Amino acid sequence: MKVLKFGGTSVGSAQRMKEVAELITDGERKIVVLSAMSGTTNSLVEISDYLYKKNPDGANEIINRLEIKYKQHVDELYKTEEYKQKGREVIKSHFNYIRSFTKDLFTLFEEKVVLAQGELISTAMVNYYLQECGVKSVLLPALDYMRTDKNAEPDPIYIKEKLHIQLELHPDAEIYITQGFICRNAYGEIDNLQRGGSDYTASLIGAAVNASEIQIWTDIDGMHNNDPRIVEKTSPVRQLHFEEAAELAYFGAKILHPTCIQPAKYANIPVRLLNTIDPTAPGTMISNETEKGKIKAVAAKGGITAIKIKSSRMLLAHGFLRKVFEIFESYQTSIDMICTSEVGVSVTIDNTRHLNEILDDLKKYGTVTVDSGMCIICVVGDLDWENLGFEAKVVQAMKNIPVRMISYGGSNYNISLLIKEDDKKTALQSLSHVLFNE
Ligand code: ADP
Ligand code: ASP
Ligand code: MG
Repeated sequence: MKVLKFGGTSVGSAQRMKEVAELITDGERKIVVLSAMSGTTNSLVEISDYLYKKNPDGANEIINRLEIKYKQHVDELYKTEEYKQKGREVIKSHFNYIRSFTKDLFTLFEEKVVLAQGELISTAMVNYYLQECGVKSVLLPALDYMRTDKNAEPDPIYIKEKLHIQLELHPDAEIYITQGFICRNAYGEIDNLQRGGSDYTASLIGAAVNASEIQIWTDIDGMHNNDPRIVEKTSPVRQLHFEEAAELAYFGAKILHPTCIQPAKYANIPVRLLNTIDPTAPGTMISNETEKGKIKAVAAKGGITAIKIKSSRMLLAHGFLRKVFEIFESYQTSIDMICTSEVGVSVTIDNTRHLNEILDDLKKYGTVTVDSGMCIICVVGDLDWENLGFEAKVVQAMKNIPVRMISYGGSNYNISLLIKEDDKKTALQSLSHVLFNE
């Protein structure tokens, strides 16, 4: 069985929902994961912000506006009065529920419940649409099988067991529709898999049912070899190794959520990125296969801070790095890039919430300098160390750009460079020219 995920852009209007319905009704049994209609989760976050700030009027204004939009979507989506009525009831009940949170204390717990409504509404709408078209479609309630443990990590054993129970309840269904993003946590409360987490839902389900393929459908033709918003001449990459895709997703190619790779990789289930707007385009295939000797793509992640710790005592001091890393760990701040020399170490972080405390602690071990407003440029491909010339090409492309750090050899698939955020555009264009268009 295949698992197909359609993002917010792919279910962003009644027309788009109809197109998705057509795409998925080819007679094959499948599980379909849906995001909220595009913009909805952002609106729900905005509503929550007003409620945190004890401004129910601000919240109600957005709720009312959003509800009007949904009523229009419903009227456009269904043909028959019967289903228009069903759709209106779905909208009414979810929006009244959201409204009920404007009257009481609002905490993180309530916010999670509000955020879950987007996916609950979109799946109910598409499920009814399929039924109106005569398709045997059922809803699999994600809140009944998708669960995280005490460390906020998905619990694959629980998910597999409960998902199979749900599937067996409907043995003759053609299409199972389910919500991306939402789950319950270890305490049974409504929670989510973080923003953009519907991709993660799809791969967790793929692994749980041992799917033949996981398809991530979005509004662009696969993963591109550079950021199409910045570089003019980009082209889709047709084949990527799981690790290449993971590096790209983590370092800025927003088309796929980075967490989505790992479950598929462990279960060895290929992930295919496909385009809702051009469904016959080949997209990008992500699997355990490497294309020998090829540089595949470049991505960039901004908002990076570099921290250098220099210590004259480091030379003979074993345990120095451990002490440095422990400081970051104690503030739950993960490190992206590391470069070492005999007298110092540079690391980068993207979460600066505890920067001041981290710097204070680091100062016990040496002289600390900070560079903010930095950007990681990540080049992926078959960068096995025995391959010749690839590092040279990457460095050549950066010959007119000041480079703060270079990291190579951490995997067989990547070189990362740290530059100023202001140089990002020039760096991406130059890399595109040297690596793909020369
Ligand atoms: P979906 O709703 O399908 O999950 P998202 O809005 O989460 O879509 O993210 C996919 C979008 O990210 C695409 O519309 C694409 O335009 C954009 N995008 C951002 N960065 C990149 C990149 N480096 N390569 C390709 N697409 C990108
Ligand atoms: N709707 C959620 C979000 O916007 C999850 C997703 O779309 O993947 O983040
Ligand atoms: Mg997404």
